[in-house]
Amino acid sequence: MSLPIVAIIGRPNVGKSTIVNRLARTQAAIVYDEPGMTRDRTYSLAYWRDHEFLVVDTGGLVFNDDTEFLPLIREQAALALAEASVAIFIGDGQEGPTVADIEIAQWLRQQPVPVLLAVNKCESPEQGLAQASHFWELGLGEPFPISGIHGNGTGELLDELIAYLPPVTDTPETEEIKVAIVGRPNVGKSSLLNAFIGEQRAIVSPISGTTRDAIDTVIERQGQTYRLIDTAGIRKKKNVEYGPEFLGINRAFKAIRRADVVLLVIDALDGVTEQDQKLVGRIVEEGRACVLVINKWDAVEKDSYTIYEYEKQLKERLHFVDWAETIFVSALTGQRVEKILELVNMAAEAHKRRVTTAVINEVLQEAISWHSPPTSRQGRQGKIYYGTQVSSQPPAIALFVNDAKRFNDNYRRYIERQFRQHLGFTGTPLRLFWRSKKVRELESSSANRATRV
Ligand code: GDP
Ligand code: GDP
Repeated sequence: MSLPIVAIIGRPNVGKSTIVNRLARTQAAIVYDEPGMTRDRTYSLAYWRDHEFLVVDTGGLVFNDDTEFLPLIREQAALALAEASVAIFIGDGQEGPTVADIEIAQWLRQQPVPVLLAVNKCESPEQGLAQASHFWELGLGEPFPISGIHGNGTGELLDELIAYLPPVTDTPETEEIKVAIVGRPNVGKSSLLNAFIGEQRAIVSPISGTTRDAIDTVIERQGQTYRLIDTAGIRKKKNVEYGPEFLGINRAFKAIRRADVVLLVIDALDGVTEQDQKLVGRIVEEGRACVLVINKWDAVEKDSYTIYEYEKQLKERLHFVDWAETIFVSALTGQRVEKILELVNMAAEAHKRRVTTAVINEVLQEAISWHSPPTSRQGRQGKIYYGTQVSSQPPAIALFVNDAKRFNDNYRRYIERQFRQHLGFTGTPLRLFWRSKKVRELESSSANRATRV
């Protein structure tokens, strides 16, 4: 999902960077790397209500000054506009509309992008409205009096702005979920597959572009389709002689890579082995969601403590996936097999989940108030400016901080726990990127003290 873009346009010194800064709610513009974007413009992430967007500052647009840079500046502005959903044209209210403003406005009116007109430096309660009203003559509609420095009027401007942004859409829930069944030989993978297929005829669907013998099985429950990945490998096993050491590990690795959710099948009679740990390592590395399936539960002699002892062993030996749900099943009797799919649904949902920047920062703010970031020996404290989810499958959150080195593992784990505790993410790995922020110091000093988390 790429975010909508808002282009900020105006002559030099009208206050564009001040305004971008305020919209982005950080102290300095952050270079937001997104593949496929030209790098020579600065994108800052901003949000208002439910909407997230990128603000791009086009640099000063000058039309009446015939320098050799002019075509370049114009080209930059045109590029920024081409990818923008809406533009904000900024004027200087204390200076009033200039000839250059009129020229730029004329050009903007010919562009296919909606333009809002903001008149900056209108902090004066007596004169603000009058200053802004002079800008009607630009023919860009109603001028919004604002003050980048003090923040007046920016709420009204943003309310108007989000009306032009594409609607916030939820990903449809009916997408197929790709599931890999992996585990050591003889743990019961094919039995489990058969239990899933049951009476219903499996739809076997070859996938294009892969080896001939990679075959998926598609099953359906309550309108949800599950693609069980590369199950030919599981079934074929019966007819082929494998040595006792054969793991089919490469096949498992490939299946993990294609999956949304991995069912790691463990034999209850053998417990967790080194090979299981190896598979877990790969699941985490690939960022796949996971459900731990403890099979052959029917064959275990149980008393009321057995399940707790098992869970304890699992936690110890598979702590890398302590976020995964565990289920005790029997592929042979079918006990709880259908319940696996409920856990798959939950894990898949967490895996592709997107949380708004507003919510992430609420959690961060709360977490920081309980437990402030570590201070270095020199007495300099770590600061988290803000966090934002940069991708999903698996969810990844970037945390923009003053100096990533100041955040030790303990504190990082604390923050991750807070996210998990407050936002769910059961069944999926969660990645946190700690980024020291690239500061573009602003010439204006005291003016830019913006909201921090
Ligand atoms: P840019 O060149 O368009 O990016 O403009 P800047 O953001 O660098 O601002 C240019 C100058 O205008 C700086 O001296 C700012 O302090 C000042 N400025 C920006 N916003 C306001 C405002 O809302 N009111 C007043 N009075 N000055 C402002
Ligand atoms: P795979 O190599 O992982 O595909 O394992 P299989 O599905 O071929 O099963 C290996 C052996 O374990 C077979 O003899 C199965 O009958 C047996 N088995 C599989 N699931 C269960 C189970 O839930 N309970 C018991 N008692 N045996 C099982």
